[in-house]
Amino acid sequence: MHHKACRPICIKTDIKPASSVEVNAEVDDEPPSQQACCPESPQPVRQRTRKLTIQSLPPDTPTARSQFKHFYYPNISEKQWNDWQWQIANRVRSLDQLAKFLHLSPEEKMAAQGLQTKLPLAITPYYLSLLVGHGADYPLRRTVVPVIDEFIKMPGEDDDPLGEENQSPVPGLVHRYPDRVLFLTLDFCSTYCRYCTRSRMVGHGRLFFNRRRLENALEYIRRTPTIRDVLLSGGDPLTLGDARLDWLLTRLRQIKHVEIIRIGTKVPAVLPQRITPQLVRMLRRHHPLWMSLHFTHPDECTPEAYRACQRLADAGIPLGSQTVLLSRINDSVETMRSLMHHLLQMRVRPYYLYQCDPISGSAHFRTSVDKGLEIIRGLRGFTSGYAIPTYVIDAPGGGGKIPLTPDYYQGREGSAVVLKNYEDKTFHYPDVC
Ligand code: SF4
Repeated sequence: MHHKACRPICIKTDIKPASSVEVNAEVDDEPPSQQACCPESPQPVRQRTRKLTIQSLPPDTPTARSQFKHFYYPNISEKQWNDWQWQIANRVRSLDQLAKFLHLSPEEKMAAQGLQTKLPLAITPYYLSLLVGHGADYPLRRTVVPVIDEFIKMPGEDDDPLGEENQSPVPGLVHRYPDRVLFLTLDFCSTYCRYCTRSRMVGHGRLFFNRRRLENALEYIRRTPTIRDVLLSGGDPLTLGDARLDWLLTRLRQIKHVEIIRIGTKVPAVLPQRITPQLVRMLRRHHPLWMSLHFTHPDECTPEAYRACQRLADAGIPLGSQTVLLSRINDSVETMRSLMHHLLQMRVRPYYLYQCDPISGSAHFRTSVDKGLEIIRGLRGFTSGYAIPTYVIDAPGGGGKIPLTPDYYQGREGSAVVLKNYEDKTFHYPDVC
């Protein structure tokens, strides 16, 4: 397991440091071009490549991050590094760029061809700093760096496995359950997860923060009084600027039957700089506001992520987590337990553990359902109940989330209910009927 392992940080030195960059525009309208390289990204200058061992440090410490920044971005101030818009403007967006930071594996190199048509590549410098010094099998690297396997479609896989397109009454709104809607605010994320359920649309630069489209969606919610819960998702709503997000939340709050608003985001894991005091000051004006945070692996729980969650929790926002079960990334009891324990310390309540959806090209990410049950069995009874998420399969075709639990309920003997506990011991409960 790679977590917290102390290792030398090997950095390729065939690059030139990035220069300072001004970010003037709000980034949330940026159509994420699949091929474009940020002009301000590192450019190759040195001809030879050598490995430089900077110091033996866990790569997920601020000190290691500081070394990374000083090496690759020596002209960038702390203030710029901590500016979320600088992070977005300087995302690594092609495998050529990535090769200046990581030694790409043959599987990663082969993926370059298909990226024109698939989910684009984008990784914030912050998240990239967590990958440097690790090999191609490193769990976090596998979540964001494409490999050739994602272009192989297996039987049963689909671009829209949850049938969201068929449950969309107006563009960008999915109405599956009677009392709640999924509101797709934009298709932009700061960092793209290779296993994204919405890879058919995310990152393609087609779903913008367009007020006419949003007004249409708001109007649908307004004239559907059964909707009491609105989940803002995308893309990542927290990549919107404060003013736009405030506008949307204000409009939703004006609808009397909308009781709660939820925001689904991966920002605290991939762009914790976004959680600024100004943002949380604005968010707290829209209570009751909940958040579902997307964390995948304990190595994402850095001091920066802790601070981001602390700010959100201090603003009174209840935080839940959503984790996708992923092969060779988090599919062991030990890794999952460690992640859940970190989340609790970050004041995030583990909410859902998702069986990976059968999106096209996801076979290398998917585990068996038995593996998911084994993990839940390895948590229940062995750690706090708060640390145990609900394991669900989002039913293909749009059937909604179906919870799965190991067989604790064994049936009946007469009027007694027969139960197995976490130690596999049998107990009888005298049922009233
Ligand atoms: S953050 Fe969410 S929407 Fe964005 S790529 Fe990852 S899984 Fe998809």
